[in-house]
Amino acid sequence: MTDPLEHELPRGLYPRSAPPGPAAPPLAGDADADVVVVGAGFTGLSAALQLAEAGRRVLVLEAHEPGWGAAGRNGGQVNAGLKHEPDAVERRLGPVHGPRLVSLASAAPERLFALIDRHAIRCEAVRGGTLRATWQPKHVAALRESAAQWQRRGIDVEFWDAARVAAATGTGHYRAATFDPRGGAVNPLALARGLATAAIAAGARICGGSRALRLERTDGGWRVATAAGAVRAARAILATDGYTDDLWPGLRTSIVPIYSSIVASAPLGPRGESVLPGREVVYEAGNVTVYYRRDAEGRLLMGGRGRQSPAPALADYAHLTSYAARLWPVLGEIEWTHWWNGQFALTPDFYPRLHAPSPGLLVGHGYSGRGVALGVALGAELAAAAQGLPLEELSLPVTPVPRIRFHAAWRIGVAGGVLLGWLRDRFGL
Ligand SMILES: Cc1cc2nc3c(=O)[nH]c(=O)nc-3n(C[C@H](O)[C@H](O)[C@H](O)COP(=O)(O)OP(=O)(O)OC[C@H]3O[C@@H](n4cnc5c(N)ncnc54)[C@H](O)[C@@H]3O)c2cc1C
Repeated sequence: MTDPLEHELPRGLYPRSAPPGPAAPPLAGDADADVVVVGAGFTGLSAALQLAEAGRRVLVLEAHEPGWGAAGRNGGQVNAGLKHEPDAVERRLGPVHGPRLVSLASAAPERLFALIDRHAIRCEAVRGGTLRATWQPKHVAALRESAAQWQRRGIDVEFWDAARVAAATGTGHYRAATFDPRGGAVNPLALARGLATAAIAAGARICGGSRALRLERTDGGWRVATAAGAVRAARAILATDGYTDDLWPGLRTSIVPIYSSIVASAPLGPRGESVLPGREVVYEAGNVTVYYRRDAEGRLLMGGRGRQSPAPALADYAHLTSYAARLWPVLGEIEWTHWWNGQFALTPDFYPRLHAPSPGLLVGHGYSGRGVALGVALGAELAAAAQGLPLEELSLPVTPVPRIRFHAAWRIGVAGGVLLGWLRDRFGL
């Protein structure tokens, strides 16, 4: 049987490499729950699992199927930390939330791998560490400083020189890197489906093919209507990130959905022996990064900026395939077998966000391209809040949904900024 996600991603790799997901029949008629979750990506599924394990009645509404969004299309890199260095996070968020968020983002990979182990999720999990690499002289000192900041916090992030990075990556392109032992890789669609299976086993109900169309306050909480039914619940969690629509006024226009693109090769075989033999995942330092890893079959998966709309043709990924050819001439002509793209929510300052725009309504999103480990971690925070943990005890300050006037222009500006960042990185502007 064809995997349903293949219709959406006709050249996608994960619908072919991930085990099938659990049955998630659409909502039909009315239902009651303690908590209704909108969106079955990492955030929503993590929240649902946590809530179900705590004995809450939880119902997840997903427009398509679990893992359909960025959760089932991403680079599969499990990275610790945020875009910003820990000192900067603590300066920005202050003495209470700063250390809390640093610690949440630092421990997020460990927490995710423990969850995978606990639920025996088959998702090609590998803990090979993260290399953040640079070929630009201007980033070398920043990487050294990054390693020092984590070391001061007792985390053994190493600074690697060019020779060591070359031995690990199989290319002499880079001047330096940090090696972060907390990182690793997963098959993200397999992870999302595994989380959905675990949540259902713990008692959650997941309704695929059930877009939430209306969200209304009621006496006892919230009512969420789909085309075929409605859910009443005391609390509601919105976990729709880069696929956020107009369900809650102003939410869609408070973030910028950005497309990222990925190409995957055929298994490299013996020719690829020198490319990431230690199975680290790599992302490049800078504003708009290229990221890559090897998967369980020995394929090379490389991602980065790309067309800001669905991109069905391999020609749309030429900047990535030609970059791979430059990095590894040893591979000769690389056979690219899969390519796809997807959206994630970018915030202008790259900080994730928690909102509680109305009593009993919670929102978590804006991981700015780092949502595999962070989405699971923030999903658990949302679950804790939905069970009554006071909002001020969460790891992130709960902020009002920013009102962005002239969002269309802002979006173009941010997309333009992404392009400018890429030009700066490319040509040292
Ligand atoms: C190509 C790509 C590569 C990436 N690489 C990495 C990486 O290597 N490492 C990393 O950490 N992060 C990466 N990211 C980012 C990461 O994938 C996201 O941050 C993360 O998946 C966000 O998870 P989420 O659950 O919040 O949202 P999503 O996984 O996007 O899920 C949102 C879900 O909400 C559903 N939905 C939307 N509106 C409604 C509605 N009205 N009713 C019902 N359902 C609705 C959607 O169908 C979707 O399934 C990448 C993203 C992309 C696109």
